[in-house]
Amino acid sequence: MADPIPNKLDVLYRTKITALNLSLSKRAKVVCVYPETVTQCPNCKYDHVHKSSLNVYNGTGPEPFTGNRCPVCRGVGQIKSVVRRRVQANVRYKHGDTDGNEYRAQGEILEGDAMIKLLVRDRAPVDECEYLLLDGVRYKKIGTPLQRGLKSYVIVQYQLKLDS
Ligand SMILES: [Zn+2]
Repeated sequence: MADPIPNKLDVLYRTKITALNLSLSKRAKVVCVYPETVTQCPNCKYDHVHKSSLNVYNGTGPEPFTGNRCPVCRGVGQIKSVVRRRVQANVRYKHGDTDGNEYRAQGEILEGDAMIKLLVRDRAPVDECEYLLLDGVRYKKIGTPLQRGLKSYVIVQYQLKLDS
């Protein structure tokens, strides 16, 4: 079956919609934050009974030590880490925005306190994260992400609710 959308039209659509999206959206730093993970310290021997470090070098860690406290975990025996990842997305806030973000595509309903849009190929980090930071403010995802677009330009939009 012949492709009903000529490539020329697809490129035109992608270019114009990208420009429109950029001009109607506020620039914000969008960061995906993943659930905290706890792993055993890679530098010292662990005391499973007292659930802390034995403060003895394990022989393979990155920072050999002979003092009284493991320099990597500071004697805790475990390392907590939170993974963050910045994504490229356009942001629209529902309230308190002075950047002319009142314009909406026809039929678009903004349900939460904010909405982000990004290319569908970049959606995995957003789908997998626990919450998002928009310019440092915590938001959670609500509802079902909505996908729309044409051929090579498909975006997904997420409704967000303030979570702080
Ligand atoms: Zn340690």
